[in-house]
Amino acid sequence: QTVLGLETSCDETAAAVVRRHADGRAEVLSSVVGSQIAAHAPFGGVVPEIAARAHVESIEAIAEAALKEAGLGYGDLTGVAATAGPGLVGGVMVGLSFGKAVALARDLPLVAVNHLEGHAVSARLGADLPYPFLLLLVSGGHCQLLEVAGIGACRRLGSTIDDAAGEAFDKIAKAMGLPYPGGPELERLAEGGDPTAFELPRMLLGRKDCDFSFSGLKTAAARLAEGVTHEADRRNLAAAVQEAIAGQLAEKSERAMKAYAQAHADAGLRFVVAGGVAANRTVRARLEAVAQKNGFSFAAPPMAYCTDNAAMIALAGAERLAAGISDPLDAVARPRWPLDAAAAAAAPTHK
Ligand code: ATP
Ligand code: MG
Ligand code: FE
Repeated sequence: QTVLGLETSCDETAAAVVRRHADGRAEVLSSVVGSQIAAHAPFGGVVPEIAARAHVESIEAIAEAALKEAGLGYGDLTGVAATAGPGLVGGVMVGLSFGKAVALARDLPLVAVNHLEGHAVSARLGADLPYPFLLLLVSGGHCQLLEVAGIGACRRLGSTIDDAAGEAFDKIAKAMGLPYPGGPELERLAEGGDPTAFELPRMLLGRKDCDFSFSGLKTAAARLAEGVTHEADRRNLAAAVQEAIAGQLAEKSERAMKAYAQAHADAGLRFVVAGGVAANRTVRARLEAVAQKNGFSFAAPPMAYCTDNAAMIALAGAERLAAGISDPLDAVARPRWPLDAAAAAAAPTHK
């Protein structure tokens, strides 16, 4: 399979070519990400109308750049995979429509990919990672623990009851006056800070489930941010926030590991973190330590495939095609689209 992947669900216009070899190994032939950060920065966040327009303006050039970088033409492809949701529907429709046009013109199978399934397979881009695995998906809009048995076979063990982890990073960073997108800025500011200098609420740690909550932390951190002006204090607050988020992610992941280990001991114990927040080094280190302690191997995508990209979409498409799954050319864009099958059936669609 040689698949063109297209990603336009948020503020990145991305295209990539991924080859899936017969033995299941994935090879990224190219991955091009056109960021719209400069267009949205003045507004402190993503503006949907600006995003959709920017996707329209750049999708064709970015797809062609991905093909060129791979040294291929449209005629060399065996399939097209486009994100069909969840995300900002105006943007999703741009990539999905472009994918449909390529599929129609070149008589190629189309795969309408769930963006979260892309994140779920993204660690398979960098290393030999067999199914099944326990996944912590931590992105700008999602924070979930999932049991991933194979492509299209996910079961949710827990999720956030309010904000996503990336959203918490972004909102607290904004309250501290850092530019958008806040997650990486907050990580930079936290360097050398003392995480014990501030006391922050530790949410839901007493609860026995695998759910997350970040709203209390967000409120507390925003209130503290108002009184903090000295650079050293700002560094300490950033470090404390990062530590609190990483700590909760590790705590709940450990809880999920214990439950997962009972059911999957003979299939091998693998723990994977994916999504934009997986780029955070403190988060990675805390999770790796907890995986090791519980007898799990640890994997995370290469840094470039943590945040949104099209290589993960192409790989999800290639794996679906290899499993004999493709979608009709009238596949719809879905602003909401949960990853686990039971919930997905009940989700609304959008023409
Ligand atoms: P979703 O995938 O849920 O639809 P999204 O596509 O916007 O959301 P991603 O692109 O996967 O999310 O990740 C972006 C998020 O990751 C942002 O919230 C960003 O702040 C966060 N992030 C990226 N790098 C870091 C980092 N180094 N530390 C903390 N957070 C980070
Ligand atoms: Mg993004
Ligand atoms: Fe994403």
